[in-house]
Amino acid sequence: MQTMIEQERNRFDQQRRRTYQIAGSLGILLVAFDIINLIFDQVQPLWVRLIYIGNDLALIGVSLAVIWMVTFRRGRLVTVERFTFIVFSAESLLFNGIVPPILGQTLTQLQQQTINDDIWFLLMICTLGFHLFRHRTGLIIVAGLYGVSIAIVAGQITLAGIRGIDIGPGLQALQIYGMGALFLCLIYIVSRYRSQSQRLQIEYELVETWAFIDMLTGVANRRRGEQVLVEAIAHSRRYNEPLTICLWDLDYFKRINDTYGHAEGDQVLRRVAQLAQATIRETDTIARWGGEEFCLLLPRTRQTEAEALINRLRREIMAKITLRNQPVTASFGIAEYRATDDLQSLLARADEALYVAKVSGRNRVWVAA
Ligand code: GH3
Ligand code: MG
Ligand code: MG
Repeated sequence: MQTMIEQERNRFDQQRRRTYQIAGSLGILLVAFDIINLIFDQVQPLWVRLIYIGNDLALIGVSLAVIWMVTFRRGRLVTVERFTFIVFSAESLLFNGIVPPILGQTLTQLQQQTINDDIWFLLMICTLGFHLFRHRTGLIIVAGLYGVSIAIVAGQITLAGIRGIDIGPGLQALQIYGMGALFLCLIYIVSRYRSQSQRLQIEYELVETWAFIDMLTGVANRRRGEQVLVEAIAHSRRYNEPLTICLWDLDYFKRINDTYGHAEGDQVLRRVAQLAQATIRETDTIARWGGEEFCLLLPRTRQTEAEALINRLRREIMAKITLRNQPVTASFGIAEYRATDDLQSLLARADEALYVAKVSGRNRVWVAA
């Protein structure tokens, strides 16, 4: 389970790195475009434009640093993301919010700036904020950043109003910020919904996995085994293909427990199950049927083939699973599916065969008549 989650995380990590490489490169292009605009700008004085160009160059520097970090540094991605978020937030507050009015930005220029880049930049940072911080924290941080940005614009409009300047363009800028806030609400809801449904999906898969696995041995449990058997019987019936099952049970297991203790008994069960799992083919299934009893399901297998395979397993167990040099053994009852069989009758015949294997001396394979 651990590895599955880790794999998933690594894949997500790779996707994020690639996204930041692309977004960073695009950002640099756009900022370069802004620099060209500033160079040819006829309205603002040169010293004001130089300040903005300086800021743009700093932005390009930060973007290059981010691209370098996500490409060549294998460290924690979230550190890079938080660094980017903080730098960009500060940049947005300072150079889109506080500095322009000080440098004499008019409301018409404010409106233009809002449409051209300010609002997009802010929305981008806020989206990143939702992704970087846990729901409540993310909401507070983003609402704070957005609130301050709007407050600066509102303050600028108010000051202009007091001075008797036409506040129409300012109000239009404010409207854009309002729409942006709505957009962010939607992003927040969608991202919350997505992460919640993802979590449910993962939990559901975990529950489903564990519900069909025997906790002690790691092989299928009886519920899963019966499910597979029902499907295998239906398949054999439909396609007229052979199917053989085998119920098997460790010999004198009570004695093992009594002599070596329950923990040692558990260890034997685990090793036997692993050995059986390693012996069978990929299309076969082994399920723990109860206590020290297992069931093997061998689709597309005739009883003679099954007998050979199971005798091999019997010898493997005897050779490889020993306690103080005493071999652990098991008895096996084989039954091949017949057209008249159902789940119960097939299992009953395998069980009878197992019984015969037991009473006729154990450590043997018996095929149902
Ligand atoms: P036989 O050869 O006739 O099968 O003899 P046996 O002793 O194996 O059979 P019996 O059914 O009398 O005993 C089965 C024992 O398996 C009894 C029980 O304590 C033990 N057992 C069942 N489940 C577990 C388990 O999960 N762990 C351990 N350690 N022992 C178990
Ligand atoms: Mg037994
Ligand atoms: Mg038993």
